[in-house]
Amino acid sequence: MNPLSVYLHIPFCKKKCAYCDFASFPAQGSQVEKYLEALKLEIELYRPLLQSREIKTVYFGGGTPSLLPPDKLLSLLRMILPEGNFGEREITLEANPGTIELEGLKKLREGGFNRISIGIQSFKDQELIFLGRVHSSKQGEEAYQNARQAGFKNINLDLIYGIPGQSLGDFLFSLNKAVSLNPEHLSLYCLSIERGTPLFYRMKSGEISPLGDDQVARMYHSARRLLSGNGYEHYEISNFARPGFRSRHNMVYWTYGEYIGLGLKAVSFYEGIRKGNPGKFDEYISALSERRAPIAYRTGKKGIAALREEAILRLRTSDGFNEEELRRKYPRAFNLFQKKLLSLKESGLIEENRGRWRIKERHFFISLEIMSRLL
Ligand code: SF4
Repeated sequence: MNPLSVYLHIPFCKKKCAYCDFASFPAQGSQVEKYLEALKLEIELYRPLLQSREIKTVYFGGGTPSLLPPDKLLSLLRMILPEGNFGEREITLEANPGTIELEGLKKLREGGFNRISIGIQSFKDQELIFLGRVHSSKQGEEAYQNARQAGFKNINLDLIYGIPGQSLGDFLFSLNKAVSLNPEHLSLYCLSIERGTPLFYRMKSGEISPLGDDQVARMYHSARRLLSGNGYEHYEISNFARPGFRSRHNMVYWTYGEYIGLGLKAVSFYEGIRKGNPGKFDEYISALSERRAPIAYRTGKKGIAALREEAILRLRTSDGFNEEELRRKYPRAFNLFQKKLLSLKESGLIEENRGRWRIKERHFFISLEIMSRLL
C-alpha cells in the first residue's frame, strides 16, 4: 500500500488580506465550533483509509490555523494519528505572526508538530500595510524567534515579491533579513492580483499598477543567486531549502503521491481519483451533519492526460522526472508525449541527462509557460 499524506484546512483568519482569494475568512458567531465538529466527522469518515495506510506527513494549512487554541489543534492531530507515536513524520502548522504566543508554540511542539511555516510576507511595514496583513515586521521576527525558542528545528518563512511600488532593494531588504534569521526553508511567492480582491479593484481604478515582468524577473533571479550563495537548494519553482529540509509534504504533491484533504475546499488524490470538497461553508457543514462525504467534484485521469499531469507536477522540482519510470507507468502515452519534450529540449528550455528530464533552473521563472507547451 502506498503511504498517504494528510492536509487539514482551517479557513479562519483575523481579517482578509487585500490580495487573498483563498478559502479563508474571519469567523462569525459559532462558525469555529461548527467547523471543528464537521472536521472531526470528516476524519471519522476517512478512518478506514487512515488506518490502512502509513501516514507520512500531516499539514495544517489555511487560513490561519494558529488562530485556533493549541489544545484544539492537538486534538485534531490526535484524531488523525491516534497512536500518538509520531516518529519521523513531518507534521507542519501554518502560522501567522501576531496569532500565537511562545507558550502556545511550546504546547504545539511538545504535542507533535515539528515544522512551522510562518507567513512573514515582508519585513517592511509599509508593504505589510499595503497587503492588508494584520501584523508588523517586528511581530514577524518575534514569531520566528518564539518558534525557535519553543523547539522548532524546521521553520519555513513565506515572503511575497512583486508588490506594486516595491523596488528590488526593498525586496532584497526583506530577503536578507529572512536569511539572517537562518530558517531551514524559504518560500517566495510572486504577488498575483486576483479578480475580486481589494487589490484588483485598486488596480482596475488605476490607483496602483502591477510591476513589469522585467522587474519581477530581476527579483526572482536575484533571490535565486542570493539564496544559493547562502546554502539554500532551489528545489522547486518557489521553494528553497537547506540540505535535508525540503518540505516533505509538498514533495508528495509534486511527485504525484497520494493524500487526503480535509476541510473546506480541500482536495484529495488517491487511487487515481482527485476529489474536491465544497468551497461553501454551509454546504460543507450540512453534508457532514448528514454523515455524507462532502464532495463537490470528482475527476480521474488516465493515459496521456494522467501522464501530462504527473510530468508537469514533477517538472516543478529540480529533480524533474525519470523517463524510465514514467514509460513503465504510461507505456503507450509516453511515445505521444515525447515529441513535445524533444521540441522543448531543442529550444533549450528543458534538459535531459541520463534519462532524467528537468526544466533548467534559470528557466524556472518561466516554467508555467514551458509547462503549457506540454499540454
Ligand atoms: S492570512 Fe493568508 S489565508 Fe488569511 S486572509 Fe491573509 S493571505 Fe488569506
